[in-house]
Amino acid sequence: MADLVTELVQIDSHSKEERSVADRLAPMLRELGAEVRIDDAGAKVGADVGNIIARVKGNRPDMAPLLLSAHMDTVPPGRGVKPVREADRIRSDGTTILGGDDKSGLAVIVETLRVLRERSLPHGDIEVAFTICEEIGLLGAKHLDVDALAARWAIVLDSPTASSLFTRAPSQDHFEFVVHGLEAHAGVCPEQGISAVKVAAQAIACMPVGRVDAQTTSNVVIVEGGGPTNVVPNRCVVVGETRSLNDERLEAQNAAMRRCFQEAAAAARATVDGRERRAWIEERLDRTYERMDVPDDAPIVRRVLEAAKSVNHSVKTASIGGGSDANVFNRRGIQSVNLGTGMRAIHTVNEWIDLQDFYACADTVLAACTM
Ligand SMILES: [Zn+2]
Repeated sequence: MADLVTELVQIDSHSKEERSVADRLAPMLRELGAEVRIDDAGAKVGADVGNIIARVKGNRPDMAPLLLSAHMDTVPPGRGVKPVREADRIRSDGTTILGGDDKSGLAVIVETLRVLRERSLPHGDIEVAFTICEEIGLLGAKHLDVDALAARWAIVLDSPTASSLFTRAPSQDHFEFVVHGLEAHAGVCPEQGISAVKVAAQAIACMPVGRVDAQTTSNVVIVEGGGPTNVVPNRCVVVGETRSLNDERLEAQNAAMRRCFQEAAAAARATVDGRERRAWIEERLDRTYERMDVPDDAPIVRRVLEAAKSVNHSVKTASIGGGSDANVFNRRGIQSVNLGTGMRAIHTVNEWIDLQDFYACADTVLAACTM
């Protein structure tokens, strides 16, 4: 497993550029007896390959089919990764991410299929989805050909600790507020202008940002005005995201932000040629993904917890602050949970894989396939 993940992280696969890693994985799955195809998600999202969908026939028709899934893409900087092997970990050399997110998940799945086959273990049909473009909005999962899948339960391998089974995750909204002010010469007649930058600044200063409440977070990442310094700016764009485990809280946060922009705009006026002018706000709010909340007594949760127990690992259900393909699968008719693989410090150049956790994850997944 360590060799396999070491190999996979050295194959560049930024989002939309997953082809090389797919070309390595598809034949590997075929060698393990899987029927493999690539769906048309790549063409739909502008990536160089689609999702890999594979099926390994089970030897126990009485067992329900199970989907195992991980994503093939990584965040930047992920080109030319040079993994460093140490006794208890694999880490990046500090110049790039490692890509254990989510190549550790891919490796666990391949290894599971290999062991099922080598040891002729009893299992139902196992389906596999290796998705593209998870990191840029779960696009592969959103376009995955779910009709081609028989499984109604899935284990997604895309989170940090193997002792946590993530069953709850937030909804996420992307927001963009455009403040429209009024341009005027900044030196000659600034009183005839309305600074969109100042309105945006007042709105941001007023709105809740960061940890809004126990279930809700909000983040502003782009504030963009621009133009020559001698013109009062008439446009400023503010971009960010909000997440919550509770959709009502998410709506409340959106309403609070909207109110701050509307109040800041209403306070910014100018009189030009006897006519009163005001700033106005254009807003765009898009749901990036929907929250998930799988109950503890759901069959897939019970199956994973029992599997972990059978191999002496302690696993507890938990909530996570980030979305994954599991959010999408849950909305598309496949009840899904997200088990940790040992990935650590993800999305940073200090990323590493905890090997003990990595192996514990594989033990649990293998056991879940055989029960
Ligand atoms: Zn991931």
